[in-house]
Amino acid sequence: MFNQYQRFFSFLLFIALLAAAFPSQSSAQRRVANELKLDLLIKGGLVIDGSMRAPIKTDVGIRGERIVFIGNSARKNVTAARTLDAKGMIVAPGFIDPHTHALEDLSNPKRNANENYLMQGVTTVVTGNDGDGPFRVAETLDKWQRQGIGINAALLVGHGAVRREAMGSGDAQPSIEQLAWMKNLIGQAMNEGAFGMSTGLFYAPGSFAKTEEVIELAKVVAGYGGIYDTHMRDEGSYSIGLLGSVRETIRIGREAGIPVHISHIKALGTEVWGQSRPVVRLIRQARAKGIKVTANQYPYTASGTNVTAALVPRWAEAGGNAELLKRIRDPQIRSRLLVEMEANLKRRNGAEAILITRSRNQELVGKTLGAIAKERNKSPVETALEIVEGGGASIASFNMSESDIEYFMKQPFVMTGSDGSSGHPRKYGTFPRKLREYVFGKKLITLPFAIRASSALTAETFRIPERGLLKAGYFADVIVFDPKTVADRATYEQPEKLATGMRFVVVNGRIGVDEGKYTGILAGRALRKISPQIK
Ligand SMILES: [Zn+2]
Repeated sequence: MFNQYQRFFSFLLFIALLAAAFPSQSSAQRRVANELKLDLLIKGGLVIDGSMRAPIKTDVGIRGERIVFIGNSARKNVTAARTLDAKGMIVAPGFIDPHTHALEDLSNPKRNANENYLMQGVTTVVTGNDGDGPFRVAETLDKWQRQGIGINAALLVGHGAVRREAMGSGDAQPSIEQLAWMKNLIGQAMNEGAFGMSTGLFYAPGSFAKTEEVIELAKVVAGYGGIYDTHMRDEGSYSIGLLGSVRETIRIGREAGIPVHISHIKALGTEVWGQSRPVVRLIRQARAKGIKVTANQYPYTASGTNVTAALVPRWAEAGGNAELLKRIRDPQIRSRLLVEMEANLKRRNGAEAILITRSRNQELVGKTLGAIAKERNKSPVETALEIVEGGGASIASFNMSESDIEYFMKQPFVMTGSDGSSGHPRKYGTFPRKLREYVFGKKLITLPFAIRASSALTAETFRIPERGLLKAGYFADVIVFDPKTVADRATYEQPEKLATGMRFVVVNGRIGVDEGKYTGILAGRALRKISPQIK
């Protein structure tokens, strides 16, 4: 039996043995506690964080889906499962594209990687623009989440889709009941996670809506903290004119109390060339009065649309495509159409400025409307009507001046947006092209300016939280690119060539592009807007 002393001494002995056996235990424990364990360390690149802060050579650490560390990793006790060498590279927030037509690709299991965007460094797209976005938002977002998507995607509810659902494709004005129905559909879409509402007031059926209708619907979106995004009624001299359209957009912002966003801002056609100055003046005045007005832009002199939208007057589209075809076949209406189309063709800088990029009739692709008309020995507008009757065609329409493009690009409220559509190189090249041509080539804008316009500004404008900046705590959407090789390769002749220069593209902490190659993973998320307290 131990007596009390023996017990006490054996206790002391035990403590002494313990201290001898693990002399450095406590300091090792301290070291473990200070150790920063990372999944990814992006080392030694020139970090441009999206905020216009001066570029700094440093490291970016990622754990799970988040950025957890930005700084000199050598000074810290960092261990990383993988280190990406970014020496000589630019490290930036993943680009965010506010205007795309990626909805179909994202929903298609064969194209849902959105490799065309990944290779441009785009890690988030907004889609549902031009009034086309679905009003069943949850259904689309759920599908994307279930099937997987290669990049993050946010949705806008489309005014056109809502109008069609509530009152068909006609040119009528809504009854009180129909207006209430549209408001209801929009409220539901916002509840389901839409980031705002888009309109396509240039297109049918959006063109049939009066400003007051749009204001009433935009008020609903404002209540959810959403944005109003618009393809304006007129970007040229078709109806109320470019300046009239900018004024209409500003009025919608003022009267609905909503941030407004002008998509693919441009001066379309020689008649309005040079109007980038008065447009910017109007926007600056509105912003000075507290109306949130912003815009996006793609760096190409050709827009992308279709023959019908570009040349056929809207009244002929009332009631949908079958009605349009009936009107085309009516000899009296046909002759009236041809007269108006002649004027529209002039607004588009003539038949040589219209290039067919996609059509069921493959023989047309790659030719101008002028060339096809000559082959057929018919006038260009007659030829255009034949094309519409034959199922239509996508076009690249060369209608912008370089000087307007540059003036818009320099504005601090203009962000990069591809408006990517099939057949136009902008779908594959917009973001790298802006860097190659306007930052490194012409030196029109600085690299930090271009990166902010392609990331943080867009996240802020569309209220996409915790993305768009390289910042500890933010989602790890990070790109690493080579400033010497970053470039677009898509052309009007070969619009589907992937861009070059992206060494690594990280989406939610996972590597989507590794050493310049797509890894095959689907790391994107269907983003849902979390609305503030609803009024
Ligand atoms: Zn558009």
